[in-house]
Amino acid sequence: MTTANLLEFDLEGLAAFCEKLGEKKFRATQLFRWIHQRGASDFTQMTDLAKSLREKLATTARVEALPVLTQHESKDGTIKWLFDVGDGNAVEAVFIPEDDRGTLCVSSQAGCAVGCRFCSTGHQGFSRNLSTGEIVAQLWFAEHFLRKHLKRTERVISNVVMMGMGEPLQNYSALVPALRTMLDDNAYGLSRRRVTVSTSGVVPMIDRLGTDCAVAMAVSLHAPNDALRDDLVPLNRKYPIAELLEACKRYLVHAPRDFITFEYCMLDGVNDQPEHAKQLIELVRTHGVSCKFNLIPFNPFPASGLLRSPQPRVLAFAKALSEAGLVTTVRKTRGDDIDAACGQLAGDVKDRTRAAERMAQRRASSERPIVLHPVRKTSTVSQEH
Ligand code: SF4
Repeated sequence: MTTANLLEFDLEGLAAFCEKLGEKKFRATQLFRWIHQRGASDFTQMTDLAKSLREKLATTARVEALPVLTQHESKDGTIKWLFDVGDGNAVEAVFIPEDDRGTLCVSSQAGCAVGCRFCSTGHQGFSRNLSTGEIVAQLWFAEHFLRKHLKRTERVISNVVMMGMGEPLQNYSALVPALRTMLDDNAYGLSRRRVTVSTSGVVPMIDRLGTDCAVAMAVSLHAPNDALRDDLVPLNRKYPIAELLEACKRYLVHAPRDFITFEYCMLDGVNDQPEHAKQLIELVRTHGVSCKFNLIPFNPFPASGLLRSPQPRVLAFAKALSEAGLVTTVRKTRGDDIDAACGQLAGDVKDRTRAAERMAQRRASSERPIVLHPVRKTSTVSQEH
């Protein structure tokens, strides 16, 4: 008989499961706390549950973590885990400790179908969506491992960023219950401001997330005009920048923070010129989106054919944005020595959609110098601002 993995359920789902077992809903809250707050996976440990319920759970349910294939710890304290998600696929999660927070970067898919040029996950192609339980299992394992490892009794992970492998908004139905579990006071109790969904710009799902489960949002922008973004983030051909920025504005009505973070990976000679900074400033002003910029030093990998922008150029770019009144930070690279830095998560993925092949073809047909493109004015650009 197959049993249900209880990591798949948010509290509402667990209550429905308990009801099916003929149990009162409040039992679900007790069970939820045992699993997520205390890291329990053995029902016999859950001594405040009635013996009859524990016996029912033993035959109908399980709490099953993802097998850990590897664990690497960086000199700077960053820890990267590679989890087996079956069928030859693996995904990664990364813990990044800082003085005032502990951040876990979580994967949402095995591989990714978006195929951004500067991203090693994108170059692998896409295998499958993770289930809610597989997303939550990364946090469940990391939190309870770290408490033991660091000999802490209180919570270690204060922030979650959905910035690992995959485009979270292309796995929406699994993502939302996972986010609800992260936020639930009977589980991890994370603040909405400290859970961030990072998207390459799936416009309809940005709108849905705003009403279903508004958390902080980061948008992988990476280019100031459609011509360049079409090349770097292919999803832009479907949802161009103007539509994306308007969706960001709508999202801010619901968001727990009053700004969107725009991620901008600095690519040598591609998107890092003074002209690009000017275009970005104009773009943000035109659309009136409240935002911050996070400039990311690119982590080169051979298949990308791209290079990291020199640091003086990154700083000059940051200065130009800052002087225009845009709050701009430059991301510190962490976990470089264990390939845990942004864009380096590679896992091991079967490319079922042949996305990697399509990327290689695209690369071959676009191997030409990239020129600066003016901001494309389209009829969808709002003139309101
Ligand atoms: S940057 Fe994100 S959306 Fe783009 S290919 Fe990588 S994982 Fe996918």
